[in-house]
Amino acid sequence: MIYIVSGPSGCGKSTLIRRVLGEVEDVRFSVSHTTREKRGTEVEGKDYHFVSRAFFRRMIQGNRLVEWALVHGEYYGTSRKELAGAQRHDIILDIDVQGARQIRRKLPSAVLIFVLPPSYRELRKRIKARGLDKAEAVRARMITARKEVKAYSLFDYIVVNDDLDSAAVELGAILRCRRALRSVRERAVRPILKNFRGKG
Ligand code: 5GP
Repeated sequence: MIYIVSGPSGCGKSTLIRRVLGEVEDVRFSVSHTTREKRGTEVEGKDYHFVSRAFFRRMIQGNRLVEWALVHGEYYGTSRKELAGAQRHDIILDIDVQGARQIRRKLPSAVLIFVLPPSYRELRKRIKARGLDKAEAVRARMITARKEVKAYSLFDYIVVNDDLDSAAVELGAILRCRRALRSVRERAVRPILKNFRGKG
């Protein structure tokens, strides 16, 4: 199963995803390609594949991306290769609303989750507290956030990240709950049902 996690920048989705990857078994993270600069502690191949614009353009031309978008002047995209194991394990994508829209169209079975901050004010406070952005960039993120929030009805699930622990439990529960769906569990259930046949 493929899970898309979107939400305004600064809403805490990366932290939430990290928690779920540590707590729920058989889940992998889809490492996106981006043209933006590597930040502080980020690791190539783990957080992102950091590539040049020319390389990114070649990926688009070669139809190697399932989705891509221009976010704050930089390119971000998910390669087809990242989603190759989706039959064997769950995959989480941390992508923006434009990307979520493309995935909905191309992979209708994907589960779309939107993470909301408790309020506009709290989001601005969190973005400022991260200290990664200058005043102008904070303003740009808040403008994008207002637009992104309007797209919330595209999503199947909404997680409000007020308290990080509760939000992480809720996100993990969405994955676990999907696994218990009859349609998903069908194959695992077959031998159990077979085992019951002919008894008594
Ligand atoms: P950041 O630069 O803060 O890591 O990410 C900026 C935004 O780009 C975030 O909203 C993040 O979800 C989004 N993003 C990261 N990877 C991808 C991707 O592969 N595709 C799309 N469409 N958005 C992405």
